[in-house]
Amino acid sequence: MAYPITYAQYQEYLKKGEFIGLKCAKCGSINFPPMAVCRDCSGTTLEPVSLKGEGTIRTFTVIRVAPEGKKPPYIIAMVELDEGPYVIGNLEGITPDETGMDLIGKKVRMGTRMVQGDVYSLGDAHVPTFTLME
Ligand SMILES: [Zn+2]
Repeated sequence: MAYPITYAQYQEYLKKGEFIGLKCAKCGSINFPPMAVCRDCSGTTLEPVSLKGEGTIRTFTVIRVAPEGKKPPYIIAMVELDEGPYVIGNLEGITPDETGMDLIGKKVRMGTRMVQGDVYSLGDAHVPTFTLME
């Protein structure tokens, strides 16, 4: 089975600040991060599409007890991108004490940052992050 985008290519796109999802030919859903099968219908005909990297916070949590190597407190948000997929990442540029439930529904812009590999991962990786648009 040929993958439209490999993990290495996805990482290269993130490093450049580009967000490439996969559009399902069967149901039209956009999948991000790219995956081998459509998460909505299990279709396997997927075409790369460029995403604008904007979305809306649907929920979030505050991490106050962090894994080794991470500095709490920080916010993890679940964001619905304008194109449809849900993405989880750190909400940056704001501390948990500055905010509350009013975060839900706010518009965010997606970015990326490099996370150093640790005992919990397979090595350095670029990951999606979010910042508030206003
Ligand atoms: Zn599909």
